[in-house]
Amino acid sequence: LDATALHQQIDDIEVHSERIVAENPGDHLAQALRHRRFERTRRHGKYLFAGLDSGEWLVLHFGMTGNLQYFKDMAQEPEYDQFLIHFGNGYQLAYNAPRKLGEIALADSVAAFRQEKDLGPDALDPDLDPEAFRQMLEGRRGMIKSALMNQQILAGIGNVYSDETLFQVGIHPRTRVKSLSGERMLKIYETMHSVLETAIDRRARPEQFPDSYLVPHRTPDGNCPLCGEPLKRVKVSGRSAYYCPNRQGDEPTGA
Ligand SMILES: [Zn+2]
Repeated sequence: LDATALHQQIDDIEVHSERIVAENPGDHLAQALRHRRFERTRRHGKYLFAGLDSGEWLVLHFGMTGNLQYFKDMAQEPEYDQFLIHFGNGYQLAYNAPRKLGEIALADSVAAFRQEKDLGPDALDPDLDPEAFRQMLEGRRGMIKSALMNQQILAGIGNVYSDETLFQVGIHPRTRVKSLSGERMLKIYETMHSVLETAIDRRARPEQFPDSYLVPHRTPDGNCPLCGEPLKRVKVSGRSAYYCPNRQGDEPTGA
């Protein structure tokens, strides 16, 4: 968005999925966007914020499959275009999502949106140092994977990157938070950072991840990239967690 759509006048929009804009009907969005320009962007957790010259923000969540595409000729419109912006320079920006799991909304400010959604600090927030991270998790009930995926505690980590982090540290996903030592918490913090930085660097393309990573092997018939053991699956907070029983141990007792 920064490289293409900033500072261009928005002529009009098209909403192709009412579900994705559920909180702000199309006419409301059109009113907010028409004749405005995007001036800046920010990210918090899984949300992208595009700041308008009116002071309002367009908020985009990409679900599991969404992405943005910028193009000139409407013949290049992506197949799963759910939301389309027409710019005065003749180009368009499409929010393309094969599975309609995302969300597009308006916010008065990033802070107001964070408060409304009760979002915790971003996982890569520079103010979130290891000690703050430890204190945030300390005394929590429940499993470490659930805590890492909970956007109200920490924004930005989902099913895939919590699995990757716990795989690399060697912790079973159903391990209780309160059973983890301060040293293990620090290791989780450092690993989470390196996993997210790698994912951003490789543009979240699993095929470009290091082969020692769990992500490219994270399928029902996948094997551990480090020891070759078949990966196991277990449900945590309604999601399928993948782990290596050699590296991450068996189901913790009392889980
Ligand atoms: Zn293994």
